[in-house]
Parts: sequence; C-alpha cells; structure tokens
Amino acid sequence: MAQHFLLSPQARTVSILSVASMSEKRAYAKLKRIIWDANGGKPICPHCGGITHWEIEDDKKWRCLGCRKSFSLTSGTIFKDRKLSYRKLLTACVIFANGVMGVSACRLSRELDITYKSAWVLLHKVREAMGLDEETAQLAGIVEIDGAVFGGSLPKLPNSKSLWDEFRKKNKVAAKKRQKLIVVMRERDDPQTGKTGKLRTFLLGKEGDAIEIARNILLPDTIVHADMSPQWEPLQLLFETKRINHSEHFSHDGACTNMAESFFERMRSAERGVHKHISGAHLPRYAMELAWKEQNRRVSNGSQAAMMIGAIGRAPPSKTLVGYWQGRKAKPVSNDNPPASVNDQDDDDAIAYLTGRKA
Ligand SMILES: [Zn+2]
Repeated sequence: MAQHFLLSPQARTVSILSVASMSEKRAYAKLKRIIWDANGGKPICPHCGGITHWEIEDDKKWRCLGCRKSFSLTSGTIFKDRKLSYRKLLTACVIFANGVMGVSACRLSRELDITYKSAWVLLHKVREAMGLDEETAQLAGIVEIDGAVFGGSLPKLPNSKSLWDEFRKKNKVAAKKRQKLIVVMRERDDPQTGKTGKLRTFLLGKEGDAIEIARNILLPDTIVHADMSPQWEPLQLLFETKRINHSEHFSHDGACTNMAESFFERMRSAERGVHKHISGAHLPRYAMELAWKEQNRRVSNGSQAAMMIGAIGRAPPSKTLVGYWQGRKAKPVSNDNPPASVNDQDDDDAIAYLTGRKA
C-alpha cells in the first residue's frame, strides 16, 4: 500500500525548532527572500512595482526612485501595521502549515505567547491572504459541485427528557436561521499527470446561486458532477453534466460527488476537532483555508509556509480585519454561563470568557 504523504520525509522540510531558534535578523532575511522572490529577495516597491530605490534606513526602509514613496518589507501588505516580530510571524506560518485541519487562535496564542486577539487576527489575515491568492483560479476537467450547511447547532439539551420535545421545537427554527451554506467546486485529481485538483468555495444563500459562478469560473469543456438537487438543473444547459442520486448510490455509472463530500468532511473535522464551532461571519475564511490545504495536501510543510508568506506579501491591507478588536466591544459573559468553547468561535464570547477567567 502506498505510504500516506504526511508520513513520508518529503512532507516535513521545516521544523518549528529551526524557525523558533532563528535570530530576528535571520528571520527577516528569510521573509525578505520569500516576499521579494521575483527580484531575488531585493526590494520591490509595493506602490508602483519599481525595483530601483535608495536606502533610508539600513536594510529596513527604502525610497522608490520611480514614485518617490518610501516603503518597508510589509508596507502595502495585509501585515502593514505588524507589531509581531518577524521570527514569530515566520513561526506562526509554520505552525499554521503543520495544522492540516487548521489551528485555533487559542492554541497559537499559547504557542507564541501572544494575546488571543493578536493570534486571532494574525490567523485570519493569513487565511484572507491565502484566499485572495486563489480568487481568480479557474477550474477545468472533471469538477464536482456540492453544498453543505455549517453552524446553527442546538444548545445543550435540558436535563429532563420530558422537556426535550418543547426545547427542540423552540430552538430548531432559530438554529436553522444561523446555518450558513458553503458550496464547493472541486476539480478531480488528474491520474495521468498526478496533478492535484483545485478547489473553490463560496458562501451562498442557496445552491442555485452557484450556477452563475460556475458559468464564470469553469472552462466551457468541463464535465460537472452534481447530486439530484433540482437547484443544479440549469448546469445541464451550460456543461456536460453527470448526476448522482444519493438516496440510491454513492457512485453510479461514473457519476459521484465523493471528492466534494470529502472536502466537507475535512471542514466538519476542523469544526469538531479544532475550532469546536466555526462562527457564521468568518465561515468563508475557514472554508478558503481548508480548500487551500486540501489542494496543497501533497506539498511539504516548508513549501506551504513559504506559499503563505508569498501570499501575505501580495495581499493588500484587509478591509475587515484592520482595527478589528478596537472597533468592537466584548459582550459580558458570566462565569455561570460560559460559551461552549474558548477556541475560534464567536470571537466576542470567547474573549469575554477568556478575560473573565483571568480576572
Ligand atoms: Zn514606487
């Protein structure tokens, strides 16, 4: 039987020990080499893309000869207001690459000795950068399409069984309203070239909203596999389509959506085992992260960390994550009624819970 990739030596090309023991200067040099790879690790102006410049501050700040604006390594990127040391940023990327099902902010805050808020924003910025990198990716060949809902779980059942029916009736509708739909489009791996298929994920109101997206991102000769949901009917007008009736088979006559289902299984595992709960507002970023990890599952951890750093260098400042904690107030949560988890869940609850415990 073929060895699982994660068990092979090719899967581990960097260790946390090696990056955590780096000097700040070496970590900076490493990040510079990756972010400005296109210019051999030498500065590229983030404002105009120019490569001629003069140094204002020794190996830290430059002024572009083209647009006359000054810049540093993280200027104009999603980490432009970075307070974290370069060594911690590099280590965070390696820890994030090692967590194949994701990494919770609570865990990262303890591993790097930074606050929960810093860890939370750091991870979401990396997720956003990873997603932006894949934003224009088009899919071809055989593509499986499917949708699944996340979130909206029921609160804990009351102790007495006689209250269960009433409890379920009361909470079911509210829970359903909190559920969010993620649609995945997943290219099948190419057995001839061994190329791993790409994935794209979308947060949508209903599965039918994915038709227009499919029209734009799937190449015309794509063969689409979908289940029997009537919402997928219009796909047949646009592409060669194969449908699978899940009430009878998992796979029939060459049609199946098992690869799309397998991605959702990764999301459910991440929700259950890492984050405990993935909050609706941030669900698309978790989906993007896990899709990225799925399509790069046979890439070594060192290369994955380098890809993340490269994406950080290309991503512009985030519209939603800048000053995220400054603009919001944590809801008071009493110690008698803490949220179910202290991981990446509804962030206000988590932080209130954490600070409540510390007080
Ligand atoms: Zn410039």
